[in-house]
Amino acid sequence: MPFIGPLLYYDFKIKAFIIMLLYNKNPFRILVLAAFVSVDIITNTVLAQSKVTLAQSKVTLAQSKVTLARQNALVPDSIVIRKIYESALTTHQSYDNLRYLTHKIGGRLSGSNQEAQAVVWIKSLLEQLGLDSVYLQAVTVPHWVRGIKEKARLITTEGKAIRLDVCALGGSVATHGKLRARVIEIKSWAELAALPEQQIKGKIVFFNRPMDPSNVEVFESYLEAVDQRNRGAIAAAKRGAVGTLVRSLTLAKDDLPHTGAVSYEEKTKKIPAAALSTNSADKLSQALQTTPNLVVELEMNCQQLPDIQSFNVIGQITGSTYPTEILTVGAHIDSWDLAEGASDDGTGIVQTIEVMRIIKDLHPERTVRAVLYVNEESGASGGLKYAELAKLSPEKQLAAIESDAGGFTPKGFRIDASPEVAEHIRTWDMLFKPYQVEWMKPNQRGIDIAPLKGIAKALISLDCDDQRFFDIHHTAADTFDKINRRELQLGTAAMASLCYLLSKHGL
Ligand SMILES: [Zn+2]
Repeated sequence: MPFIGPLLYYDFKIKAFIIMLLYNKNPFRILVLAAFVSVDIITNTVLAQSKVTLAQSKVTLAQSKVTLARQNALVPDSIVIRKIYESALTTHQSYDNLRYLTHKIGGRLSGSNQEAQAVVWIKSLLEQLGLDSVYLQAVTVPHWVRGIKEKARLITTEGKAIRLDVCALGGSVATHGKLRARVIEIKSWAELAALPEQQIKGKIVFFNRPMDPSNVEVFESYLEAVDQRNRGAIAAAKRGAVGTLVRSLTLAKDDLPHTGAVSYEEKTKKIPAAALSTNSADKLSQALQTTPNLVVELEMNCQQLPDIQSFNVIGQITGSTYPTEILTVGAHIDSWDLAEGASDDGTGIVQTIEVMRIIKDLHPERTVRAVLYVNEESGASGGLKYAELAKLSPEKQLAAIESDAGGFTPKGFRIDASPEVAEHIRTWDMLFKPYQVEWMKPNQRGIDIAPLKGIAKALISLDCDDQRFFDIHHTAADTFDKINRRELQLGTAAMASLCYLLSKHGL
């Protein structure tokens, strides 16, 4: 009965009206009286609504005042950020550095000569910036070598051989000559678990679960599919397989195999693991439908050499007011060996160096430290070492930022922090909107900074447009020509801006 309230409210007037109705026979008077009561009711209703509208307006006004106050408070920062963007967008130095790194040094496999050369080169660039200190941090890294180019062929029952485009996964054991075995195709872990052991024993397990093309973020699809590459060799060996082939982790349809680390465990036999290009994976899958008995021949000469000493490269600008509060910005030095390691993670290296150039001129209140990590791709021992020493240090690790998302157009940041700290960082989002850096999401993706969880207050990764990243990721196509100078500079500017805000306001 929604009208019961108003009826009670108007009770007196309605009662008076009924009395008048009963005792007054004059229709004209009744009409006038009815009109009077109606007008009164309408007026009071309108008045009540106006009061509600007024209260709402007051709330909106208060909110606008808060927003305006926030915007006003950010004006000095917005002026500095404009200058940071101007500086980043008007110098070609980072792009020139990337050309040198990729063309003169090249791919930087963990433990390789090229990685050692990159360490020396990065250290000298940081020294040239005139930072307060530049030093190396010793790290023991694995040293795996690919050997001569891998080969794979599928051989039909009639003896016809068809070439497959293949590469060894990083860290894989060799085949020691030609490994010839029948193949069993697997599309899910459940399928592998359900197969009787005799159907897997002595075979090559072919993991062929494609990345999901329906995700808007390709990175999501990669993360959903990467378990096949990481854990496939262990799972297959446990069921008696003699090798694995993994569909390359990409949405591209081409002949490029994508490498990446494979994991082994102590008590399980280490079996050779290789990636197939998506075209070759489809070719093999189709051939298996018509010829389930076909054999694949795989030849890989890779070798795990003894661990070797390498170095994280560190350079810092000491904070003028809070020198023991540390903010790190970084990327990884190593790359895979199939190409120049331009996108992954040459872009992050040159962006980090450029951030330091820009921040130095801003005289930060808190210490800003560049950390270039070794061995991200096959064990993250550089990141682990930095975190291990940071934990022992009396310094306060404020935040760690990493650029390792390909060096394409920056889209936002991903933050791992307590809700309060994350909210504090998110209050700066309006400073980034004019530069099309649109989001601050949870779940950072930097592998090198992940060991700082629980040590640093916030872990933050740069998020980039990832539509092209996984076309070249860990392949022979990860070359300098794929990098756009403007996109690279925009990423530098976004990172430098966040560094500036963190160094000024703290957490
Ligand atoms: Zn990377």
